[in-house]
Amino acid sequence: MPVNLHFYQELKAFCKAKMVTLVAVSKTKPIEDILELYHLGQRDFGENYVQELTEKYHALPKDIRWHFIGHLQTNKVKIIAPFISLIQSVDSEKLFSEINKQGAKNNRVIDCLLQIFIAREETKFGLDENELKMLTDKIHEEKYQYATVKGLMGMASFTKEKEQVKNEFCQLNNLSKKYFGKSINGHSPIISMGMSADYELAIDEGSNLIRVGSLLFGERQKK
Ligand SMILES: *Cc1c(COP(=O)(O)O)cnc(C)c1O
Repeated sequence: MPVNLHFYQELKAFCKAKMVTLVAVSKTKPIEDILELYHLGQRDFGENYVQELTEKYHALPKDIRWHFIGHLQTNKVKIIAPFISLIQSVDSEKLFSEINKQGAKNNRVIDCLLQIFIAREETKFGLDENELKMLTDKIHEEKYQYATVKGLMGMASFTKEKEQVKNEFCQLNNLSKKYFGKSINGHSPIISMGMSADYELAIDEGSNLIRVGSLLFGERQKK
């Protein structure tokens, strides 16, 4: 399936007007497709498998900002630590402290988002509010120097019920306000929410980073 370059230009302009970061989710898609968007100026790309991401990192221009958006196993952090731009899917203290350890080894601070469970489905990873509170407290206490929290990420339920999706996004935005207020070290907290099916709704509810795959690259084959 060809990359939808026309839609990309539209979405890019829309995001710019709304001051929203567009992450193009390129998982399962070939290098050539990524390069098509790269040549139109896209620099933020999202992947959810460590091996696939690493192969693409090595094959592609080094000014791409790679976002890790899938479930990350602790033992794989070291593979992506040298180059990852933002790990969006931190859901445990164990993972965060490993990211800090690998950040130290690579002498760089690794930016992270905490993944929050907002959906009704049981399959989606993430923290509930109680776990978020415990994790943020712990992170403050430990004074980690090589991993830093930039905000929150969440995935809404896969449903056509707009009210439901809207409520879930609203919930994520409220958690961000409650735990980070208006800024984290002088920057607006990142609120990563919204995918192909629901990015407009997400932006209405306060998202400032959307992760869009299939609308740009076409439907993915089921793995
Ligand atoms: C695959 C994926 C996306 C993109 O999904 P589309 O519906 O193709 O836009 C966004 N976020 C996460 C966490 C994903 O795994």
